[in-house]
Amino acid sequence: MQTTFDMDKIVSLCKRRGFIFQSSEIYGGLASAWDYGPFGAELKRNVKNAWWKAVVQDREDMVGLDASILMHPMTWKASGHTDNFSDVLVDCKVCKKRFRADHVGDKCPNCGKKEFTEGRPFNLMLKTFLGAVEDENSVTYLRPETAQGIFVNFQNVLDSTHRRLPFGIAQIGKSFRNEITPGNYTFRTREFEQMEIEYFVRPENALPAYERWISERYQWYLDLGMRQENLRKREHAKDELAHYAAGCTDIEYNFPFGWSELEGIANRTDYDLKQHAKFSSKELMYQDNVTNEKLYPFVIEPSGGVDRATLAFIADAYHEEMVNEQTRVVMKFHPKLAPIKVAILPLLKKNDSIVALAKKIKSELQKEIVCVYDDSAAIGKLYRRQDEVGTIFCVTVDVQSLEDGQVTVRDRDTMKQERIGVDRLFEYLKERL
Ligand code: ATP
Repeated sequence: MQTTFDMDKIVSLCKRRGFIFQSSEIYGGLASAWDYGPFGAELKRNVKNAWWKAVVQDREDMVGLDASILMHPMTWKASGHTDNFSDVLVDCKVCKKRFRADHVGDKCPNCGKKEFTEGRPFNLMLKTFLGAVEDENSVTYLRPETAQGIFVNFQNVLDSTHRRLPFGIAQIGKSFRNEITPGNYTFRTREFEQMEIEYFVRPENALPAYERWISERYQWYLDLGMRQENLRKREHAKDELAHYAAGCTDIEYNFPFGWSELEGIANRTDYDLKQHAKFSSKELMYQDNVTNEKLYPFVIEPSGGVDRATLAFIADAYHEEMVNEQTRVVMKFHPKLAPIKVAILPLLKKNDSIVALAKKIKSELQKEIVCVYDDSAAIGKLYRRQDEVGTIFCVTVDVQSLEDGQVTVRDRDTMKQERIGVDRLFEYLKERL
């Protein structure tokens, strides 16, 4: 078996099989903007659901939130984004390409020359105007992170849920950054989705909570089938940390273009709540309802990207194998992530009884299992298509099925085929999924 990490192959499969399309392609496309096709949409939804289940529904100490993308501009003053959320950009004087200063060495990555303009800060927030008049008073921003929606709702969540420390708030949503150099497919885009947690703890418990979240978040990727050799933790050096942060560790994936960040886990101390307290003149302190003690909690922030996680799961699932001297491309997604769990395929699409039985099986299974019916090609081709989207089982209905009430179930990974009675099929699949 060969495992390849060729990015071009992944991009081509994603287009061919309906995972990811270029945005506005019929108009020539919009650079670094991507749309998720039918299978990509299912996969991304599965990634988000797996995260939400692990960090909210399966825990006692977490609640969810869904804050709006547009927020009061003062939010970004308080958070520091208005003044400091900038990358330093430089232009190559020879080829005129523009780069993030921290992404170029001493030579231009495009033309190899060493003549750059002076670095200047470039704010990454996407500006917009609210309402009919486009003036300074109507300026607002598309949020550059979901986290601030959590901080500004800290008091609302406390008042409505009566939580005691430690507890956390989780959110999934779109964020926007006017990146200077987007690229590497869906890895760095200007519109993307984040999955973020703010976990509030007593200051003296911040360090153990930080360490726990690093290992829990790392484990989450492994539990969803990511290969350990492609995953690593990288602790930030002191000089990489924001001035208020007491620690930060990234979880990185070994993409075809190199080790890159999937998620960062930071100990942000009490910086954010205190900043919002200052700018809003609201107290924003935690008051223990048993001891009446008041304090500013510290916060641990595991912050990941939905698109980056999805891309890593795609890269990790990609396999090429030689079968009968032909290359079989198969996406070995974890059952929880596979966009489609079962495909029901009639061996002869002109035989009405076979088609009717296949459709009946599909309508029964779909009540609980995500499945598709496909009769648009010969069986060999249908299997190949399903392998390429990572469908875990193919159920084939043939002439024999009409007589003995059995169907052929083919396993994606082993390609083994088994005859199973239609009456036992649901149970059989459910057990294995
Ligand atoms: P980078 O250094 O790669 O720009 P960052 O450290 O600025 O990332 P954070 O601000 O920590 O990123 O954002 C948290 C997470 O959001 C990242 O780990 C990543 O998964 C995701 N993310 C951030 N920026 C982008 C982007 N432009 N495109 C896609 N995902 C992003």
